[in-house]
Amino acid sequence: MEPTEQQRSRVAEDLRGIVAGDVRCDDVFLQLYASDASVYQIRPLGVVRPRSTDDVIACVQYAADVGIPVHPRGAGTGTAGESIGPGLIIDFSAYMRRVVRIDTERVRVQPGIVHERLNRQLRRSGRLFAPEPYRTNVATIGGMIGRNDAGPRWSKYGATRDHVLSLQVVLADGTVHEFSREPVQSVQTGHLHPRKRQILARLAQMLADHSQLIRQRRPNCPVYRGGYDLDGLLCQDAVDLARLMVGSEGTLGIVTEATLATQAVPQHRGVAILLFDSLDKAVRAGLDIVALGATACELVDRRCLTLARESQVEYELLIPAETEALLVVEYQGDDGPQVREWIEMLIDNITHQRRMAFSARQALDDQEGQLYWGLVSRPPSAMYRVRGPSRPVPVLEDLAVEPRILPEFLPRVQNVLKRWQVTASISVHIALGQLRIRPFLDIDGAGQVDHIRRLADELYTEVLDCGGAICGEHACGLSRTPYLRRQVGPLYEVFVAVKRLLDPQNLLNPAKIVGEDFELPFANLRPALQVPAAPPEAEVADRSDAAAVAVADSTPTAAGHGVPPVPEPAQEPVDRPSQLRNLVELQLNWHPERLIDAVADCNRCGECRTQAGPERMCPIFRFAPAEESSPRAKANLVRGLLTGEMPLSLLSSEPFKQVLDLCVHCHSCRLECPARVDIPRLASQCKASYVTVNGLSWGEWVVTRAELLLGLASLCRPAANWALSNRFVRWLMEKVLGIEHQRKLPRLAATSFMRWAAKRKLTRPARHSDPKVAYFVDLYANYFDPQLAQAFVAVLEHNGIAVYVPAEQVQSGMAAVAAGDLDYARRIARHNVALLAEAIRSGYQVVATEPAAAVCLTHEYPLLLDEEDARLVAGNVSEACTFLWRLHTVGRLDLSFRPLRATVGYHTPCHLRALQVGSPAENLLGLIPGLRVRHIEEGCSGMAGAWGLLHRNYRNSLRAGWRLMSHIREAEIQAGTTECSACKLQMEQGTTKPTVHPIKLLALSYGLMPELAGLLASRGKSL
Ligand SMILES: Cc1cc2nc3c(=O)[nH]c(=O)nc-3n(C[C@H](O)[C@H](O)[C@H](O)COP(=O)(O)OP(=O)(O)OC[C@H]3O[C@@H](n4cnc5c(N)ncnc54)[C@H](O)[C@@H]3O)c2cc1C
Ligand code: SF4
Ligand code: SF4
Repeated sequence: MEPTEQQRSRVAEDLRGIVAGDVRCDDVFLQLYASDASVYQIRPLGVVRPRSTDDVIACVQYAADVGIPVHPRGAGTGTAGESIGPGLIIDFSAYMRRVVRIDTERVRVQPGIVHERLNRQLRRSGRLFAPEPYRTNVATIGGMIGRNDAGPRWSKYGATRDHVLSLQVVLADGTVHEFSREPVQSVQTGHLHPRKRQILARLAQMLADHSQLIRQRRPNCPVYRGGYDLDGLLCQDAVDLARLMVGSEGTLGIVTEATLATQAVPQHRGVAILLFDSLDKAVRAGLDIVALGATACELVDRRCLTLARESQVEYELLIPAETEALLVVEYQGDDGPQVREWIEMLIDNITHQRRMAFSARQALDDQEGQLYWGLVSRPPSAMYRVRGPSRPVPVLEDLAVEPRILPEFLPRVQNVLKRWQVTASISVHIALGQLRIRPFLDIDGAGQVDHIRRLADELYTEVLDCGGAICGEHACGLSRTPYLRRQVGPLYEVFVAVKRLLDPQNLLNPAKIVGEDFELPFANLRPALQVPAAPPEAEVADRSDAAAVAVADSTPTAAGHGVPPVPEPAQEPVDRPSQLRNLVELQLNWHPERLIDAVADCNRCGECRTQAGPERMCPIFRFAPAEESSPRAKANLVRGLLTGEMPLSLLSSEPFKQVLDLCVHCHSCRLECPARVDIPRLASQCKASYVTVNGLSWGEWVVTRAELLLGLASLCRPAANWALSNRFVRWLMEKVLGIEHQRKLPRLAATSFMRWAAKRKLTRPARHSDPKVAYFVDLYANYFDPQLAQAFVAVLEHNGIAVYVPAEQVQSGMAAVAAGDLDYARRIARHNVALLAEAIRSGYQVVATEPAAAVCLTHEYPLLLDEEDARLVAGNVSEACTFLWRLHTVGRLDLSFRPLRATVGYHTPCHLRALQVGSPAENLLGLIPGLRVRHIEEGCSGMAGAWGLLHRNYRNSLRAGWRLMSHIREAEIQAGTTECSACKLQMEQGTTKPTVHPIKLLALSYGLMPELAGLLASRGKSL
């Protein structure tokens, strides 16, 4: 039975008194933690994010006293529901993610640290934690220990279990112990804690009593999950208690620290792909390759390859359509030529001598190697873009057999799938004999559960008949636990005894590994998203107008900061279709079905929790790595609303808003999410509902109405600039508007660009050229840096291009979109679209110097306005450097650049990446003789629009941008360069070196504006 609100508040209150970390029992957080990457959803009682082992002890002791289960959790990316449950979720990934100590050949860590982050630190001393999960960029060490992750390089390094030296473990009674290899005789002689003594003595006895059974029931495959690893646990009169914990899915104890063995980083690796015209040939070749000592050998089937080809042009060029299967092979070693020779010999052997593969490619560098590996790690998520009721679901996804029988076993699996008319993609970890199957199933359809149940029975029968395992790499979790007895027979009773010994009250992650509820794999499935009937076309067309009428201007008020123009959502009818319509129709221009698709596309893979280097995925999650910061959190919340599990009234609540505010609309996740879920669109949709009811905060109002305020401020410019540099005023601004007093802010220019343009008669569309440009200026260039706008005009005119600056243009409205003030944004959009569409019809191309403005015009306006003109504008907008680079590619750019003897550090803004235009600024700067451009790839600058301006985000913003700022400080670099005005602020924050727009460097090099002469030597101000 669901706990009542009162019970939840009581638990929250109790825990807050004893735990220093976060305790959350509210609807929003329960929804965020109700799911992982599986098909299941269970609302927990509460969420605890401990800061220390003491917090975990306190939490477990409390749970034991009141009889509440606890579920340890890392990144929550398991596919079997192993980290979810009805009790208290203990999330280690938020705070307990430190490296405690690095020794020569070992490392002590907290369990929440992500594998890739750990190895990044270890690499500095030439070491690594060798088992590598497929999701190295998100999987935590706690999760790896919980599941005994092996990863693709198992042949060389083994599994997690082989590298765990000792573990600090909190047991179900709240006692804490260091578990490692314990000599059995220490029961008599050692000074053991009584609980540890009891466990050791009873376990040693159990292992001795059942040694034959344990050996007999071991599946016939190199690595398997499913059950406790009792085989070899008692060795030379010692019991390895740490080893017992590994792979126990949090059911025996909670790991709070781990000591892990580290290995030397191999100096070289070689990667190749081999292409086959039959699956059978690929499997047989793979077995030979493993026997030849390859570090990794992974097979990918035709369906995965098709999806890869569809999702990335590189794969389309790389993999011919007729490829039936492909092997990704890797060799590692310390001798580069030797590694290369191995790869070449392999290709020669399999492709030329034995003619098994019809083609092969060797990766020439690390980047190409990563691309090849992407075929193994990316497709599962890309599949979620498949439309229709049947989607690939992580059920029945993990079978393992003795690798040698793979050629016979694979057709048996395919036959079962064929008999049940199920399409599936298959990939194979050859060395492990492990099959990763993704069946395409309509898990929400009527009668489907029974279908899946019978399919599971048949598949599991096949694998058990071969002496294999129903869990090869993945956890038992909710999906496989009840089948475990079929795999291990009487050994199951020993598992039950082990569980009773360590967790007599069954409080630690119950129902995983030990549990016989045969309904479990088919219960607690995520509620279906219902697709309401499509509204008539006329209704869709009217939607934006209806919104404009229904929603009044959301100016802030003293109380509640807003005008509530629509009825409380809580009072609306509760049937789902109408809830959905209210959510959708009042705000963005999209069909309800698209909104549902966007939410359904998110498979909760957790890829958006990455903090890995070359990726940009979510800057906010990087600054504050907590579940609510992740893009997936936003999709999860909208899902809760659409299924009706969360009342629609939550949309206007503060906890909901706090999560939404953790999206700054940078669009990085939309590009990098493997399923391309449009999270920023979902987030602004929901923010809009909040703003509709509550209005904007003062700070948001100021940011969104900046144009109005800047217009006023420029009337009394000296006073405004004095205020911006006055410490007291800045302190006041921090207190009232939340703008950090230490953040260097730009000064208002003496004359705005628009005024200058009017004087130059640029605001009249009079002259002719081909092409001709309508310049969209936006706020920063207009009020703070007219020199940039003038430089752009100068560069265009120098190239014979007529420039028109529409006089009536206003700011792009990106800040309003990001804040969710969509009605205001829509009015801005309507105004600008009318102007710009007219210009486009007169033959102009719209060009913006601010990347955020270009994103707003191309991506946001068509979402705000369902009008042909908005689409016309979106299709005819370019960012300034992109426009000039295109000019160059058609031979129209004047190349008479004068040399600039300098080195500049270039940073790519997130909004430029969102435009998906490559790196036109770098290309252009490369045309300037003598100018050295150093590409700095340190991810988001940490400004994230106006996010970094705010006092509450300032520290995190600096932390995030620190590496970028440090590069700019390097002696070799004279100045920074970037297209984005917010990134410029950040790049200038930590240094007195200037950051200049690439267009200014072009103008300088053309010798167009004498006032630019001192550009690279100018020095920034202190505030
Ligand atoms: C799209 C996709 C594809 C995947 N493909 C593969 C694949 O091919 N092969 C593969 O092996 N994996 C695969 N995975 C799974 C993924 O690699 C694992 O989920 C991941 O390694 C687990 O890390 P986590 O931090 O998310 O752990 P979680 O999922 O949070 O936890 C995993 C288990 O560990 C337990 N646990 C966590 N922390 C602790 C702790 N401190 N103490 C005790 N127990 C703890 C949890 O209770 C749970 O039982 C895939 C996942 C996704 C989403
Ligand atoms: S938003 Fe994308 S990356 Fe994040 S969990 Fe959903 S599908 Fe995965
Ligand atoms: S748009 Fe940017 S800030 Fe928002 S969720 Fe996506 S990555 Fe994070």
